[in-house]
Amino acid sequence: MPDIIQLLPDSIANQIAAGEVVQRPASAVKELMENSLDAGATSVKLIVKDSGKALIQVVDNGMGMSETDARMSLERHATSKIRTADDLFRLRTMGFRGEALASIAAVSQFELRTRQEHQDLGTQINVEASEVKSQSPVACEKGTSISVKNLFFNIPARRNFLKANPVEMRHIIEEFQRLALAHPQVAFSLYHSDDLIYELLPSKLSQRIVSLFGKSFQGQLAACQEQTDLVKVTGYIGRPESARKTRGEQFIFVNQRFIKNNYLNHAVTSAFEGLLVENSFPFYVLFIEIDPKHIDVNVHPTKTEIKFDDERAVYAVVKASVKLALGTHNLAPAIDFKADINIVNKLSQNISNEQYFNEQFTSSLNRSNLQNWDKLFDDVPADSKLFQKTQPVVNTLRFESALNQEQPNEEKQESGAMFQFQNRYIVRAAKSGLMIIDQQAAHERVLFEKYAARLKGGAGNSQQSLFPQAITLSPADFALVIEIESELVSLGFRFEVFGKNSFQVSGVPVGCGSNEKELFEGLIEQFKINQSELELPLQDNLAMALARRTSVKYGQKLMNEEIQSIVEGLFACSKPNFSPDGHPTFFTFETSKIESYFTR
Ligand code: ADP
Ligand code: MG
Repeated sequence: MPDIIQLLPDSIANQIAAGEVVQRPASAVKELMENSLDAGATSVKLIVKDSGKALIQVVDNGMGMSETDARMSLERHATSKIRTADDLFRLRTMGFRGEALASIAAVSQFELRTRQEHQDLGTQINVEASEVKSQSPVACEKGTSISVKNLFFNIPARRNFLKANPVEMRHIIEEFQRLALAHPQVAFSLYHSDDLIYELLPSKLSQRIVSLFGKSFQGQLAACQEQTDLVKVTGYIGRPESARKTRGEQFIFVNQRFIKNNYLNHAVTSAFEGLLVENSFPFYVLFIEIDPKHIDVNVHPTKTEIKFDDERAVYAVVKASVKLALGTHNLAPAIDFKADINIVNKLSQNISNEQYFNEQFTSSLNRSNLQNWDKLFDDVPADSKLFQKTQPVVNTLRFESALNQEQPNEEKQESGAMFQFQNRYIVRAAKSGLMIIDQQAAHERVLFEKYAARLKGGAGNSQQSLFPQAITLSPADFALVIEIESELVSLGFRFEVFGKNSFQVSGVPVGCGSNEKELFEGLIEQFKINQSELELPLQDNLAMALARRTSVKYGQKLMNEEIQSIVEGLFACSKPNFSPDGHPTFFTFETSKIESYFTR
């Protein structure tokens, strides 16, 4: 029988390798951007068209390549980053396999332009499906620019397998964000078609986080820092109150490489234990630095998995660093602390024996180690309304006299005399002490649970309007309303399509006011905001958006019946402690603390 085994031609071998390295446009983005960072670039520009399906271009100002290297870089297993097997255990670069460019060039129309600083002319190479089409000198900027056109053009099965544009774009943005976080000192920009999506200037990590994820992160970050002989952990965690409903922004990097590791993820979340609303996920960006000899990054071609030789030790340090940042090493939860310190500060302005007060209260706060909490946020200016420290909280005199008036007998005092305070809070006497309820957060919680129940239960009651109103929306919003039509009906909305991009609204949920148009439009707007910021399941988002639109607001004077109904409603909720987006709804100023203040 004749011999039948043959070596595969390079083009086929490369295509097979590409199957592992390049799964989708985002994988090419990652490989190209990592190469730019390995080349010492201080500026990296990413341009994509058609979510990377038509074009992925990465332009950097790094060290560039010589003519020979430019050609070599396209060979499989050709790399400048390791030379011996031992180098694998000294890795400081992102790449090392030497297969990315060869793989990408095997499945696309590929163009490389590169010039080293001392060269007058650079090199341009064009490749299609591994076949070099041309090579020539070219005048170009210092650095490297690689364009990848029509990815998988020669493998229709894979091209057809790509997901819809928004999905592929989300993957690209994910890769972009990871690299931008790991290298805050590098400038990055991202263009999709001609739209500028991100323009990130070199900055501190905290600023990079805000630039990437939005202003709502300002003042919400606590710095982490912990070091042992084995590892160093640095980075930021988000305040527990700002934790999201979906597992989104959680990043762990090892030696600047983004990794996925459930075990370390658990280390972080366990440090948050007791501080989070159920099913919410804290924000974190943590950097683990460890001598490369203690890790093995060679476990998976796309390299988001990693092995440590002593994973438990790393777990312990990560957990400790987060706990330290949370200030929970010793005592009470941070949530109480925040409310405490506001009240402590304000009360202390109104009492005569301030000295005594300080000893009683602030010393216990010191012990709890939580006082450093605010210091941890120095890095990022606080602009969240939740954390403004200047809000008046309690005016002692009015506070007491009002209480006295409303508490004719002990019975009533214990069971909850209530009044509104500063058109913002509801003060309630409870067994455990004085309860201060945030009227808007509490009402949002009550309404959220009510609407969520309606969404589960089918058609909700509708309040019919005498004169149905026509509403015209943008095409995108119109499409959105059609998409969530059955949920809107469950909530109690009634409407019909009425011409192009228009609806006629004939009913709104009972108790949601009389301005159908404003309510409807406001709801869609809020729904979209939630969608982009929180990534909630559709029904939760909708219930939350409607709760936000229809709740009482700060500054709104409440009638006694309203106060009653909010408080009763709140404590009938399944999760009364937090508003749907995770802000505390109430705080109790405990009787024992009040007593210790008046102790003779
Ligand atoms: P690896 O990054 O694993 O070494 P690649 O196939 O991604 O493998 O790249 C091959 C080689 O091409 C790299 O080792 C590097 O020397 C060179 N190279 C790739 N991209 C760039 C770039 N943007 N700037 C300078 N050199 C580059
Ligand atoms: Mg590489």
